Parts: sequence; structure tokens; C-alpha cells
Amino acid sequence: MTAVETDLTRTQAATRTETLIAQTEQHVAHNYHPLEVVVSEATGATVTDVEGRRYLDFLAGYSATNFGHRHPALVAAAQEQLRRVTLTSRAFYNDQLGPFATELAALVGKEMVLPMNTGAEAVESAVKVARKWGYQVKGVPDGCAQIIVAAGNFHGRTTTIISFSGDETARADFGPYAPGFVTVPYGDLAALEQAITPHTVAVLLEPIQGEAGVLIPPAGYLTGVRQCTRRNNVLFIADEIQSGLGRTGRTLACEHEGVVADMYLLGKALGGGIVPVSAVVAGEDVLGVLHPGEHGSTFGGNPLACAVGRAVVSLLRTGEYQERAALLGDQLRAGLDRLLGHGVVAVRSRGLWAGIDIDPDLATGREVCARLAGYGVLAKDTHGSTLRFAPAIVIQKDQLQYGVDQLARVLGDLRSTPVRAGGAARRS
Ligand SMILES: *Cc1c(COP(=O)(O)O)cnc(C)c1O
Repeated sequence: MTAVETDLTRTQAATRTETLIAQTEQHVAHNYHPLEVVVSEATGATVTDVEGRRYLDFLAGYSATNFGHRHPALVAAAQEQLRRVTLTSRAFYNDQLGPFATELAALVGKEMVLPMNTGAEAVESAVKVARKWGYQVKGVPDGCAQIIVAAGNFHGRTTTIISFSGDETARADFGPYAPGFVTVPYGDLAALEQAITPHTVAVLLEPIQGEAGVLIPPAGYLTGVRQCTRRNNVLFIADEIQSGLGRTGRTLACEHEGVVADMYLLGKALGGGIVPVSAVVAGEDVLGVLHPGEHGSTFGGNPLACAVGRAVVSLLRTGEYQERAALLGDQLRAGLDRLLGHGVVAVRSRGLWAGIDIDPDLATGREVCARLAGYGVLAKDTHGSTLRFAPAIVIQKDQLQYGVDQLARVLGDLRSTPVRAGGAARRS
């Protein structure tokens, strides 16, 4: 190709990017603010844009692609199932749901599974189950059930869930709000104990708050929550939709404290990045409160979802991914700790999951992410100047190092030519 031809191809590719972004912005509701990268292909820990540029994916679909994009075993399971049957509805039995529920329940150490599709649906389902359990098992007076949640939570975007969100952007103008929720500070055991009343049916928590910036509660908190919920005959619901399934170096983040919740909410990685699959996993004493017609979903428990979910469970059963996330997590942490004082003010991490607070005077998280993309690394900011790093667990050591090095490079650039004083005040 001549230099002129190369330039022309480049211009055409750039035009294609612009056209696709413009089309998306024109015809898709503006409920997200994406970085200006148009992905057309992905494999493992990397994605490729329409201009042929490769990036390391340090978000991994908010942990939906924990096992990497298009993991061969997961794609094979989906393809195999596509040749047989994909949807039956729960009006009939199918040959994947029973095995999926059995295998998932065993992985989590429980008896029963309620299959749903999205994470928010799993949370909604848990709210219903906890309330019904409260009325029928605990004996709470009708209509009085209360569920305790934590400040800074993220459990999804439905009307009930945003009713107990502290995020004003997610809440404002979507009322009237659902009653029955009490918010306490995250990590504060005394506040939680004080909030419990005879009408409390459940405590709903993320064992590590993901959207809040990978916030890890003080050591002993989850153990304390377990003890006080047990003492008060209250269910402990662990939302492990983002923290679960290998991300933190364990199958479940609760395991770090040896805590067993009454209900686990799983989603994201459970669908292997291929189809939405979520589940409530609990004992028969809890999920047994549901009877035909009381709850359901047309797509919940469909054979394609179950086949992919079974393949995900098989990957996790080996323990390989959990071990790898822990090992790579140590490398990630060491790399990020070296940036403390060089534009990074705080690092929190567990396994291959890190929240990184950037000096707000240097830049917003959004600005850092835009610059990282320029150096071939895709990451996502959250809350002003916090970044979240959560690459696929299949990422190679040198790729992980490359990502951390690019953050160092961006921070170096910013420190030599600060773009904005008072960056913290800018909207992210
Ligand atoms: C993503 C997420 C949800 C919601 O899942 P969706 O599939 O987006 O509905 C719920 N809880 C937590 C902790 C999450 O990270």
C-alpha cells in the first residue's frame, strides 16, 4: 500500500467509528456514556475495535466475562445446545435445568436454585422470597416486612431496587419509591444491629461493594453480620453478582471470612458473557416458600442458559480460575501499590479486582480512562476519580503488567502537564 492509500484507509476507518457512534447516540436511549471505542471482535482478555486496534479489556463486562471473551469451553457448550433446544419455558421440563441446578447448588454448598436472567431479577426475586419467608416462617405481621441494606449499595436498576439506592442519579424522578427498606452505613456492625427490629426479614449486602469502588468492609464485618442475623432470625442475603464466581480468588467473596449466607445472588459471569443467566441459590427452608404461580420468568432456566451455566460451573469446579485470580491479584496489587504517591491516593483490592483512587486534582476517572484507551487499555471509572480494574482471569501476566504500566504512563503524562486544576469538581 502506498502512503496515500494507507492514509485513506485510516480516514475511512475513523469515519466508520464516527458513524457507528453517531448512529448509536441517535437511536439508543442515552442511559450510558461510553468511551469512544467501537468494539467489533473480542477474544480472551482483549477486544478489537472497528479500526483494527486491539485493547486489553480491564473491565471484563463488569465481571460478566470473568473467563475471558468467547472462552472455548463456554462457546462449545452454547453451540452444542443451539443444535438441540434453546427455549422451552418452565411450562415443561428440559434436560439442562435439573443438572444445572444440582451442579450450581453443589458449587455454592446449598440445596436449591431459582433460575432467572439478569442480576436485578435475582435481587428482586430474593426480596420476594425474603418477604414471603418473613410472613410464613418468621411470623412477621402482613405488610410489615423490612429489609436492611447498606449505604453505597448497587443491586440493579429496577423500580424496587432504586428505591433503596443512595445514588441520586439512579433514583431521582423515578419515584414513588417502594417502602420496606432501611439503610445503614456499610461496614458498621453496631448500626446494623441497632436497625434490626422484630419486623426485619433480611439483610441484603454486597460482601465487597463493586460499583461503590471495590469497597472492602472491615475484617470481621461479614462474620458479625452472620452472627447477628442468626441471633435475630433474619436472613443474610449476599449479592455476589459481581464479587462471585472467581473474581476475588474464591468462588464466593464471603469465603474470605468463612461466612455462609442464607441466600446467594449470582449473575454476570454465570452466563459466561454469552447469555444473561442469574440465580438465587439457597436452602430448601428458604426457597421452599415459593409455590407454582408465585414467581417466574419466561426465559429463566432456559436450556441454552443452563447449558452455558453448567459449563461455567465446570470451569469453577476445577478451582483453577480462583487460584489464578488470587495469584494475578497479588501481581496487580503490587503493581498498583507502586503508584501510590505518584497520582494514586488509595488502592483497594481482593483477587483480580481493584478500586484505584486517583488524585482528584490530577484528573477525573473518566479522563484517565480516555487516556488509557489511547494506550490500548479499556477500563471504567466510578464515582469521580476512582477506577476499577477487573480484567478477565485468563489474562496473561505480561498483559496484566502492560495494563498497570499504561496507568503509570497516563499518570506520568498528567503529572508533567496537569490538564485541570480542580478536576474533582467536574462531572464524570
Ligand atoms: C451488576 C450488578 C447487579 C445487577 O445486575 P444486572 O444483570 O445488570 O441487572 C446487581 N448487583 C450487583 C452487585 C451487581 O454488580
